[in-house]
Amino acid sequence: ATPTALMVGVGRGGQLGILIKGPDALEASGVIDTVVLDKTGTLTTGAMTATGIHALGEASPTALLRHAAAVEEQSEHPLARAIVKRAAQDEVEWARAVDVTAIPGRGAVGRVEDQEVLIGNAALLEERGMDVPAEALARVEAAANLAATAVLVAVAGQCLGVITVTDALKDSAPGAIARLKKMGLHTVLLTGDRQAAADVVGGLVGVDEVIAEVLPTQKASVIERLQAEGRRVAMVGDGINDAAALASANLGLAVVSGTDVALKSADIILVRRNLNVIPDAIALARRTLRTIR
Ligand code: ADP
Ligand code: MG
Repeated sequence: ATPTALMVGVGRGGQLGILIKGPDALEASGVIDTVVLDKTGTLTTGAMTATGIHALGEASPTALLRHAAAVEEQSEHPLARAIVKRAAQDEVEWARAVDVTAIPGRGAVGRVEDQEVLIGNAALLEERGMDVPAEALARVEAAANLAATAVLVAVAGQCLGVITVTDALKDSAPGAIARLKKMGLHTVLLTGDRQAAADVVGGLVGVDEVIAEVLPTQKASVIERLQAEGRRVAMVGDGINDAAALASANLGLAVVSGTDVALKSADIILVRRNLNVIPDAIALARRTLRTIR
């Protein structure tokens, strides 16, 4: 291969908002046949809004938000940021939580005013031996059907209620996926979110395959499984929970809002919010490789 043509390709990428770390990354992009996309923050804006506060039984919406915000202010998950923002907007005051631990793919736990607070999905509460009330489960179902996320809040072993968080699809997502498919690429949505919510988003953006309910630690194994099936995989993520998957893929592409971890494990950094930058990058790589051959 001629290094000069590859360097020209890298330079051209820079002009398009495609930061290619080196000639190897460009060469890998040219032979990709599968594109795996993270959902939250990649296909969606990641700018989530806590739209519904549903307190159960005697609990008040204020108590729900107060406990939730205390724990979530120590988490950098997009769901956590949405909940803290809503509590601040509603002028709810909260105490400082202690011993906060994130549980990847599940939620977080901490202590607020000497009571244990669990915040996250139904699996988190169930794993800790708690019953999830039918009304809460109904909220979870309803949210999933709207591609929203229902976050459960439990204090001292009691489920106080559910906070519904909605996340908008990026306008450019369906068009960019359609272009990838036209280029002959197999498109896969990979998420830790529930199957029903993932299927709704998958249908809206038009991906070929949806792989849901994957814990952050398992995302890299999914990439490796696809590779074992003979696929050459590009992974597109924002880096919150997917740095390992970005590193495992034949090609890791990080969208710009990503964390430093993602930026380090990515081969290509996409500095445009518009997802058409993904087919642009692969088309550029293919053109560059054709020039060389
Ligand atoms: P994704 O793959 O879409 O980025 P994650 O793996 O980060 O999703 O999280 C999976 C699920 O775990 C979320 O949909 C949510 O139900 C729950 N979860 C994770 N972190 C939190 C948190 N800090 N607060 C509430 N729920 C959380
Ligand atoms: Mg994510």
